[in-house]
Amino acid sequence: MQTEGTMYRPPVEANTFVFQVAAGCTHNKCKFCTMFRDKKFHLIKEDVLRSNLAEVKEYYGRYGLKLERIFLDDGDVFSLSADKLENIINLIREYFPELKEITMYAAVRNLKHKSNEDLLRLKDLGVNDLYIGYECGLDDCLMFMNKGHNTEESIRQADRLNQVGIRHHALLIIGMAGKGRAEESGMAAARLVNKIKPGIVLLTTLSVFDDSDLKQEIINNNFT
Ligand code: SF4
Repeated sequence: MQTEGTMYRPPVEANTFVFQVAAGCTHNKCKFCTMFRDKKFHLIKEDVLRSNLAEVKEYYGRYGLKLERIFLDDGDVFSLSADKLENIINLIREYFPELKEITMYAAVRNLKHKSNEDLLRLKDLGVNDLYIGYECGLDDCLMFMNKGHNTEESIRQADRLNQVGIRHHALLIIGMAGKGRAEESGMAAARLVNKIKPGIVLLTTLSVFDDSDLKQEIINNNFT
């Protein structure tokens, strides 16, 4: 398998085949995140996709396994247009016609660029279980962290997914509001979850990585 850099997937997808189709993140600006700082967002070339798929097909065939679910990596595959996503899914189905569900990370901001027709088409292609970094229910924190969306937008886009019938799961960061705001942040997160109605809520605690913009904000006394 040819892959680029570190790859990530939600813990609940531990048994799903993770397939890198687009490296990096188009946004790459969240202050707490260093996952893709070393990558510029780009599609993986088709010959590499085909070679990796052929290798996996041979492996699955050897053990009589079926590939019915796949997680598309890296962190921002859903930023691709519905046409590009359809091409990638069709390519995977050339090798794995039994494929039923295609899952990936998604961002509120890239949902805005998809029409309801796009979402319905993707649902029909098998796209489901989008893992969305809603992160926090407080707008000032989302803005401080450069998240690229606010809670109103989160609710609007989650509502569109719920109407179309694409399951989505909420990634939330405990501690993102900083010291002294735990209760306020917890209540805001609860209000957000009640409105967006995700399938699963996945919690993580805020980590401060040395090479993150957040570390610099802490050094500058802008965040505790
Ligand atoms: S948290 Fe998500 S959207 Fe933000 S920079 Fe990291 S991968 Fe990109």
